[in-house]
This record gives sequence, C-alpha cells and structure tokens, in this order.
Amino acid sequence: MKKELEILIQMQKFDTVIGKKNVLTKELPQQLNSLKQSLLDADEAVNTTKSELDENQKDQKLKELDIADNNAKITKYKNQLLTIETNKEYKALNSEINHLEKKNSGVDDELIVLMETESELRDRLKENNEAQQKASDELKANEKKLEKEIQEVQKDIEELKSKRNKLAAGLPRDLIRRYGNLIKNRNRKAVVFNDNNACSGCGYTIRPQVDIDMKARNSVIYCESCGRILVDHFENN
Ligand SMILES: [Zn+2]
Repeated sequence: MKKELEILIQMQKFDTVIGKKNVLTKELPQQLNSLKQSLLDADEAVNTTKSELDENQKDQKLKELDIADNNAKITKYKNQLLTIETNKEYKALNSEINHLEKKNSGVDDELIVLMETESELRDRLKENNEAQQKASDELKANEKKLEKEIQEVQKDIEELKSKRNKLAAGLPRDLIRRYGNLIKNRNRKAVVFNDNNACSGCGYTIRPQVDIDMKARNSVIYCESCGRILVDHFENN
C-alpha cells in the first residue's frame, strides 16, 4: 500500500502541473487574440478617420464649386448691368447679385468649419496611424513567441499525461478510476495532505484515529468530508 500511495502522490504532482499548464492553454491564445484584436481595432480606427476625411474633402470641393458657380453668375450679371436700360431691371439684377454674394459668404463660413474639421481629422489620423503601427509592432514581436509557447505547453501536457498514465499502470483499476474522478470533480486535487490536522483540500478536521491510519500508510485513507485521498505529507517536494 505504501507503494501505491507513493504512486498516487507522484501522479498528483503531475496533475497539479498539468492543471497549471491547462490554464496557460486558455490564457496564451487569449493573449494572442487580444493582440490581433487590438490591431483590427486600430485598422478600423484608421479606416473610419480616412473615410471621414474623404467625406470632408468631397464636401469642401462641392462648396468650392458652389462658390465658383455663384462667382461666374455674379460676373455675368455684373456685365449685364452695363447694358440694362430700365431701373426696374437694374434693381432686380442688383438684388440677385447681392443675394448670390450673401450666399457665397455663407458657403465661405461653412468652408472654414470644414477646414477646421479637416485639420482635426488629420491630427486624429496621425494618432490612429501611430496606434496602428504600435499594435502591429506588438503583434509582430509576440505572435511567433506566443504560438511557440502554445505549442510547447500542449506538448508538455501530453508528456506529463503520458508519464502520469505510466505511473497509473501500477495501480488497481478502481483506484485509478477513483483518482481520475477526484481530479475531474475536485478541482484537480485528488491527493491532499494533512495541513495542521485538517484536510488541505477542504479544511475538514482530521480525527486522531484517521491521522493514525494515515500515518501507518497501510491503506488508502479518504477525507471524511470531500472524499479526497489523504496522506500525512508530500515527501521530497
Ligand atoms: Zn477534504
């Protein structure tokens, strides 16, 4: 029985490391995904600002065309003024010229606002480009490393499992099954130790008789509360 307990302790040591590595198999891909997502977000920010800038440029062009158009009309009407004969026609044409000039002044104001927005958008685009570069650099610097780590962790887990399974071959089937169920259902802790007269798995107090049986190592002792395999201590690490 002593031998079996030693095997169980060794198996637990492997399973504890496997548990830590299992966490990494989730965390490492998450780290990689988060770097990829940061770059996607940065790309999207660049594209959004670029399309806003495009829109702004189009608006400015339209307004400039509008002003040119109005100016052409104003020039034409001013030339017509020279050939007009009645006062009424003169007044009508003059008022049309005034109207167009007023209109142009309004469009000019709108242009100024658009130019201010353009300047803000160019500043923002510069920031977006810098953030994009940073996200891209960060992904480049870490992608290969993380992919390698993910592969290594998976390989390590396979190796540890194989070592653990080799050890398990030295145990009776029902004990292997019980151990496996505890690993699965008890937070990867199947074999626990006496921690100041309490189960290190659940904290339940170990009765003196259980303590004596445990120390004798003549049989597998289970915690009376959580059902984990209880040993007096984990020797040599
Ligand atoms: Zn317990």
